[in-house]
Amino acid sequence: MSSDPNENGGSRRGNGRVHSHGNGHAHSHGLVIPSMPDAVDIFDTTLRDGSQQEGLSLTVDDKLRVAEQLDHLGVAFVEGGWPGANPKDEEFFARAPAELRLSTATLVAFGSTRRAGVKAEDDEVLRQLVKANTEAVCIVAKASELHVTDALRTTLDEALAMASDSVRFLRDHGLRVFFDAEHFFDGYRANPEFTMRVLRAAEEAGAETLVLCDTNGGSLPHEVEQIVSTVIAEFDCQIGVHFHNDSGCAVANSITAVGVGATHVQGCVNGYGERTGNADLSVAIGDLSLKLGIRTIPPERLERLTPVSHHIAELVNIAPNPQQPYVGMAAFAHKAGLHTSAIARRRDAYEHVQPDLVGNGTRFVVSEMAGRSTLALKAAELGLELDSKAMDEVLDTLKRLEHRGYHFEVADGSLELLLRRATGWEPEFFELESFRVISDGEVVDHMDDSTVHTTEATVKVVVGDERLISTAEGNGPVNALDSALRKAIGPQFPALERIHLTDYRVRVLDSGRATAAVTRVLIDTTDGERTWTTIGVSENIIEASWQALFDSIVYGLLLHHRS
Ligand SMILES: [Zn+2]
Repeated sequence: MSSDPNENGGSRRGNGRVHSHGNGHAHSHGLVIPSMPDAVDIFDTTLRDGSQQEGLSLTVDDKLRVAEQLDHLGVAFVEGGWPGANPKDEEFFARAPAELRLSTATLVAFGSTRRAGVKAEDDEVLRQLVKANTEAVCIVAKASELHVTDALRTTLDEALAMASDSVRFLRDHGLRVFFDAEHFFDGYRANPEFTMRVLRAAEEAGAETLVLCDTNGGSLPHEVEQIVSTVIAEFDCQIGVHFHNDSGCAVANSITAVGVGATHVQGCVNGYGERTGNADLSVAIGDLSLKLGIRTIPPERLERLTPVSHHIAELVNIAPNPQQPYVGMAAFAHKAGLHTSAIARRRDAYEHVQPDLVGNGTRFVVSEMAGRSTLALKAAELGLELDSKAMDEVLDTLKRLEHRGYHFEVADGSLELLLRRATGWEPEFFELESFRVISDGEVVDHMDDSTVHTTEATVKVVVGDERLISTAEGNGPVNALDSALRKAIGPQFPALERIHLTDYRVRVLDSGRATAAVTRVLIDTTDGERTWTTIGVSENIIEASWQALFDSIVYGLLLHHRS
């Protein structure tokens, strides 16, 4: 167990911090030159603060798997939850020692300072923190006068005692203590003297890191720069930051704070969190490592950033944002047109970093408007060789299909299959004989028109020389067809277990001519690390759904099936 605060703190580059320890705590404030550290500790709070996001709910098993992914990425700290606040987090900490083998990350339990008027040793929250049996804990304390007098309804002196008693109690139990100063930035603006006294109390009681929290998330970078440099000049222990994104500046504020010497950054992979979320660590790690040369996660693991971000999105069941910097599907996608060949020649002229450094890739977006050169680039990107005759045929097919309502720009999976077929390849995993979908609606309550729908699908397929028939129910045609197909071919293709559909979108095209209306179906599928989109178009929604589903499964098998 380590309790040396300097051991995990990032070392500092240069000699920017000026201290003069004469009598007591006389510090010189005049000559502080901002100093950029060589390294920062990344502290992920997806399992605690991130879980406050609407619609994000994790089982204990999910939490264990998210923690594993964060460790695989190489963050320094994983905050696991609040033991004692709910049975789920209690179970998580009870199971963690046996079921979580962390190689890089240190597990942290979260709690708050003792309540007002209660002795630390009699406080239930603090007792639960000790019981969680982690090496490190993070406690939140009120650091703003307004919150002490209005929310806590106690005196400023009691608030200081709560901070120092709690830190001392935890230190006496051999724990490393991170001290989250809640509402720090707002509190500092209103009463800087009190907020600094709270930090001082925690430092003197033995806190390893003082974490300045922008709990309401409204701060801007220039304010952060000024306030964080003032704190850094006053304190000797490690300074950390915790930003929410309400002003849209959580990452910018984190980078700014590091720029003036903070060496501990809290946030969530993918920026999960209440309201507008926490600082997005996927982006902050990219910026700090690649732009500033500051060590965040082990450098050789930077290429895990995209796969881990997508894997965690999958575990928390929230569709990844394609426009997320560094790790989004569109982060390095070029809809090129005229500039296509220029991009191919000089990627560095059009991309801010090399996408493979963060495990992402350049993607050329192909549409009807795109010419031969875009298509040739796309083929090269996939490692396919197409002669000029094959290329002509693909261009013709694309034009014809896009005219009928296909939109390959958004269906990378189907486009790749189309290009592969142009090389003479045919998927031989399974052959469809027929499928049938039956949908029943039963009105159960005439007052509010509520109906119960069941959809049942039957598929007949041939795998090798075996004819397979299966039937399954689902909550719609795609779901029913997907279940029936998996039931039929699943035993032959175990790889399907890791492949599943994440989104399904239907759009009616040409709705002006109701009789000739065409339905376009898009399906997103993932294997936990990659996501691909496939398309189907038909006057019949079931047929369009089948096309998109067929491509989705074939593409997945192409990636994963090894016979
Ligand atoms: Zn927070």
